[in-house]
Parts: sequence; C-alpha cells; structure tokens
Amino acid sequence: MQIRIAGKVDESIVDGPGFRYAVFTQGCRHHCPGCHNPETHDFEGGFPADCRELLGEMADNPLLDGLTLSGGDPFEQVPASAFLARGARALGLNVWVYSGYTFEQLYRRPDCRELLTACDVLVDGPFVLAQRTLELRFRGSRNQRLIDLPASLAQGRPVCFSLGDDE
Ligand code: SF4
Repeated sequence: MQIRIAGKVDESIVDGPGFRYAVFTQGCRHHCPGCHNPETHDFEGGFPADCRELLGEMADNPLLDGLTLSGGDPFEQVPASAFLARGARALGLNVWVYSGYTFEQLYRRPDCRELLTACDVLVDGPFVLAQRTLELRFRGSRNQRLIDLPASLAQGRPVCFSLGDDE
C-alpha cells in the first residue's frame, strides 16, 4: 500500500503526547489562510511512500508512544491512512489524526469511517487565523477540538478527549 506524503518525523514531541512518529500526508482542499504547511496542498506534490516501510520504522523504535497522521489532510487518502493507523495500533501505539474537516462532517461520510475507527483521537477543523492561539496544546486555533474517537463513534456525537491536568 502506497501513501503520498509531504514528509515524516521519526520522533516528534509536538504532534500529540509523548514520542510520536508523525506522517504528513500530501494533498489538502481546505486552503486555510495562514496555513503553516502550504507545500502540502498540491495533490501532485510530495512523494509516494510505502506504508509497510513506514510501519517497519515504527516497529524499530521502542521509544515511540504513538503515530500521528497530519497533513495535508489524511482524510484525502483514507485507505492508506487507515492501513497505517491499524498497523500502528497492532504495534501497541496510540493513533492521533488531524483533519481540516470537523468530526460531524467526517461522521456523515461512510467512506471516512474506516479511518475514524482506526484512530484514537481526532484533532478536527480548519485552522482559523482569527482564532489563532498558542495556548491550546497540539492545536493552532480555538475552533479545533481534541475528539475521543472511540467514545464519539459509540455515542454518535463528538466527545472531547482530555489531556488531563496539564491541558
Ligand atoms: S487543513 Fe491544515 S494543511 Fe490544510 S490548509 Fe488547513 S491548516 Fe493547512
């Protein structure tokens, strides 16, 4: 399985809690003003990567806590993103996924369910420049939420994920 990516970071501490393997998928339709990664928008940009090789790199690093799928928008490549998410979970990693779509938008789309069910936390919604903040961990603007995906899918409504005392 191939996935088109803009890049990856082998050990990230800014894309979710703990040490994380971060994959930045290529392709985004949102074009949020002020986006920090405009080079990830072009669906023809980036480069193809083999999902099994990426999972092999994760398996080789015992320090990792999780996988983060960011972008770009991972929901533009649902089958490959879900393949990575399921593989990471099989390695014992938790999986966070970022999207410019909201949970409500993704929940309505049957083609997105495969990726929603394969992940633990969704950081949802576009980056809104007027709501930019440096105060919320792992988010760029106040409209973005941390969504507990297993609980949200079970209840059919967005349930917030808590980072605990240090949120
Ligand atoms: S969703 Fe993310 S990658 Fe896409 S334009 Fe918005 S901030 Fe940039």
